[in-house]
Amino acid sequence: MNILITNGRVIDPSQELDARLDVLIEDGLVTRVDKKIKSNAAVFDAAGLVVTPGFIDLHTHLREPGQEHKETIRTGTLSAVAGGFTAVCAMANTLPPNDERAVTEMIIAESARNGACRVYPIGAVSKGLKGEALAELAELRAAGCVAVSDDGKPVYNAQLMRRALEYCSMLGIPVVAHEEDANLSDGGVMHEGYYSTLLGMGGIPAASEETLVARDVILARTTGAQLHIAHLSTAGAIDAVRAARAKGVRVTCEVAPHHLALTDETLQSFSTNLKMNPPLRSAQHRDAVIAAIADGTVDAIATDHAPHHFDEKNVEFDLAPFGVIGLETAFGVCVTHLVARGVIDLARLVDLLSCGPARVFNLDGGTLAAGSLGDVTVVDPQARWEVPKSFRSMSSNSPFVGMSLQGRPLATIVGGVVKYDARQAGQAPAATRQKPRPRAKR
Ligand SMILES: [Zn+2]
Repeated sequence: MNILITNGRVIDPSQELDARLDVLIEDGLVTRVDKKIKSNAAVFDAAGLVVTPGFIDLHTHLREPGQEHKETIRTGTLSAVAGGFTAVCAMANTLPPNDERAVTEMIIAESARNGACRVYPIGAVSKGLKGEALAELAELRAAGCVAVSDDGKPVYNAQLMRRALEYCSMLGIPVVAHEEDANLSDGGVMHEGYYSTLLGMGGIPAASEETLVARDVILARTTGAQLHIAHLSTAGAIDAVRAARAKGVRVTCEVAPHHLALTDETLQSFSTNLKMNPPLRSAQHRDAVIAAIADGTVDAIATDHAPHHFDEKNVEFDLAPFGVIGLETAFGVCVTHLVARGVIDLARLVDLLSCGPARVFNLDGGTLAAGSLGDVTVVDPQARWEVPKSFRSMSSNSPFVGMSLQGRPLATIVGGVVKYDARQAGQAPAATRQKPRPRAKR
């Protein structure tokens, strides 16, 4: 299967490339990037569009095994390719959790069978995500896990975190930390501040994240291991990361699109699609996150795609589960809030969505260098579109529904195969969706 992508503006920050070039993919690998390539491969005309290395999401909840009413590996990866992602890293908090080799192998096998893009499993730090005993980290690594995380929960026990960092340092993979002191955030449903007081809702203080980031940065320094901080959302956590990196500590971090685009002010609508953990913060924290993206402190933008069934979110705010979907809106949200406003240029955004993630988890991809994976995303950074109510994801719990965005993925090519093409896909979502049951009005 050979494909020649012609006439596009190729932006590949891994090679500091930004020029009108053709990209040739042969037998699943990029073989040439050059002017006017002659080939008898199938032509994909990218005139007027931007061609980049495939996007990689470091933080996706695919929900399979165990919660297939929210999402499956098939629908989650269909959602991913519609968002321009050629690979996703699947979080471990499934049912059962990915804390042993058999679960990792199941995820890899199902992805190979039914996945629309690459799936890299993330193993659990602790058995059963209980935070008591370490999972068999070497087994998980050998089975194909690219990182470990108890995401959804922090690792409370500092000694367990230290041991995880030490083992993962030997295994050559990062520990991904969900940073939250649950004693501080107990009972909280939104950011603690002016709006939580105004609305009379339980608050999750910034200190809940900041205290654990401070602890784990110290453990990363002690062990020399790579700590990767998930969905960083507070000014204090950013300060801690910046200071640690300046001293040579191996700490990397990711930011979710909703944290850079939205603030806690929006919670006045009481929409449960604005409820996630960490919560939408105040404008001051949001501005600090954007500044950290601009100055290079942030390594990656990761979606924290967390699907929930309509019925689960269609309850009072306090009772709704945390989490929002994000794969299909990530690029548009980032172009709208970062590129169109002049915070960063398009090349830096491609770095945050593709090259950076590959670097942080040491994955193949994130480059169009000859010999690399034939994973390519074609985008239209000028396209304006309105976020629809339904998605290729089985779930629709997006905080961006109805919003007007700039920038849209046009095609997603995985291993030289076109897995998504907006020009052929039309408007009809491909994923089958369960009809929500009617509910009594409260
Ligand atoms: Zn998390």
